[in-house]
Amino acid sequence: MSPTAHILTPREVPDAAVPRLIEGAALADYAGYLTDESRRSGRAAALAFPTTLSEVSGAVRLALARGWDITVSNARTGIAAGAVPEGGLLLSLERLSRVTGLRLDAAGNLVLRCQAGVALSEVQKSLRRRSFQDSAAWSAASGEALEALRQKTFFYPPDPTETGAAIGGTIACNASGAHTFLYGPTRPYVEALTVVLGDGRVLDLERGACRATPEGRFGVRQPDGAVCWGTVPHYAWPRTKNAAGYYAAPEMDLIDLFIGSEGTLGIIVEAEIRALPAPEARCAVMTFWPDEAAALRFTRAVRGRRHDLGLEAVEYVDPNAMALLRRRRAALGAVSGVPECLPAGAGSAIYLDVGTTSARLEAVLEALCTAVAAHGGDPEVCWSAVAEDERERLRVFRHALPETVNAMIAEVRRQHPGVTKLGTDMAVPDEALEAVLALYRSRLDEARLPYVIFGHVGDNHLHVNILPQTPDDYDRGRRLYREFARAVVAMGGSPAAEHGIGRLKTDFLEVLYGADGVAQMRAVKAVLDPGGRLGAGILFQGARPS
Ligand SMILES: Cc1cc2nc3c(=O)[nH]c(=O)nc-3n(C[C@H](O)[C@H](O)[C@H](O)COP(=O)(O)OP(=O)(O)OC[C@H]3O[C@@H](n4cnc5c(N)ncnc54)[C@H](O)[C@@H]3O)c2cc1C
Repeated sequence: MSPTAHILTPREVPDAAVPRLIEGAALADYAGYLTDESRRSGRAAALAFPTTLSEVSGAVRLALARGWDITVSNARTGIAAGAVPEGGLLLSLERLSRVTGLRLDAAGNLVLRCQAGVALSEVQKSLRRRSFQDSAAWSAASGEALEALRQKTFFYPPDPTETGAAIGGTIACNASGAHTFLYGPTRPYVEALTVVLGDGRVLDLERGACRATPEGRFGVRQPDGAVCWGTVPHYAWPRTKNAAGYYAAPEMDLIDLFIGSEGTLGIIVEAEIRALPAPEARCAVMTFWPDEAAALRFTRAVRGRRHDLGLEAVEYVDPNAMALLRRRRAALGAVSGVPECLPAGAGSAIYLDVGTTSARLEAVLEALCTAVAAHGGDPEVCWSAVAEDERERLRVFRHALPETVNAMIAEVRRQHPGVTKLGTDMAVPDEALEAVLALYRSRLDEARLPYVIFGHVGDNHLHVNILPQTPDDYDRGRRLYREFARAVVAMGGSPAAEHGIGRLKTDFLEVLYGADGVAQMRAVKAVLDPGGRLGAGILFQGARPS
């Protein structure tokens, strides 16, 4: 590899335009932009909605000139308060919302070029309908790729539950979801990025083009032609799902530094994302289990066969969650989204999504029934849904659980506004699944705190939702949350597997990587954003990186 393959070379944007700034009293009309789904509220000196790359660059230069920090926001669906400003310039990319072209790669996958503000739901809908709102303005080559798309259905695998999230936000957070079990998180689907750095220059990053040296070194060319050298982090990246801090791997592709960096290294303005040919046949299956032990044995049995069976997702509903769903059905009837006929002896449930060929579907379902019977379940009481409307009913059922939790917290907040949702986001390696569940239960039961557990059991990534009734419950729940984070790290896992660190979980970085690991991250930031103005207060506590 030539030495320049380790050096990032940003370009200048001549005559960068400055977008209109919303400042002072005018900001009062934009209060919604000062918060995100974490419900934390912030403040900003100014807000801007750039509509071009040039305007993003111009806004950054203006912020520098005025000594402002810069917070990037996209769809504001984040739950770690990363899009909530604490002063300075709030840069909303929601008006950069066009898909600007398509191409087919050598493997026959479709690569979409999207501006950062395009909603994930829009990408999925356009791929399903095989038509794009802005295609009239595309190049001839993109038009030809669109014709190819009309012969075949494609889909974009990253699937955080919240499809209102924007492409830029999902890349900044390396978002993942239930289907990460088969397809992995956002990272492997990002082929190229256009990023504005903290000095207003632009980096065009292409996967495979620029890597760290074997010693982990990388350079950034400065405006005067000199190269500033840095070292990528060398801490051990957990063997589990992980959305905490800067990615680290030997000779890593430098595009991966920016994916998951939560707006602290650069502003993602455009991205090329890879869509895959969609499975011909899809099926959703709900299996019921007498108890947790049987459900976990079944999980262990089927997850090793994920590729063979086309298992896209393996999701758990624990006994407390089943009881909560039954109560919801009893209280609300059909509008609860919970079917009347939940099997009587069902103590827990495992939900599976299958994506396969039409020819294989029956054999896959048979294999699943055999596995259910072999591990103490009854195939006769399993539910399966192939038609889209039936799958949608099962989806509504699954979503009844987080909705019920949210409604319960909202109810408590009426009396105790300081209480917020206490949902963990931690993953452990395969061998620690039973141990972590035993730990959660023993500590929560000892503390007499109500809770439900559900989520991505295939990836050993279960969300524990503590349901505090009082401020005292809430404080004790928060302390347990921190205790679980340390225990999960000791097991080799991640305390922030999916939702990122943002401004709310900055202490978890040191728990995971140690003080030295955080220093390695700060050193990367100091090379790419020497002024420390991008996303100040996100990932790192306290003083600016030096
Ligand atoms: C009901 C619900 C369910 C959710 N489920 C999941 C889930 O299953 N999996 C999951 O991963 N997440 C989930 N989330 C969290 C959230 O949807 C994701 O983190 C998502 O990736 C955020 O995208 P966004 O566009 O809303 O980003 P924002 O909230 O606007 O920003 C999030 C962070 O990314 C940075 N950022 C945003 N855009 C850019 C950009 N263009 N360039 C640089 N930095 C940027 C921001 O500064 C901030 O730090 C859920 C949220 C909700 C409300």
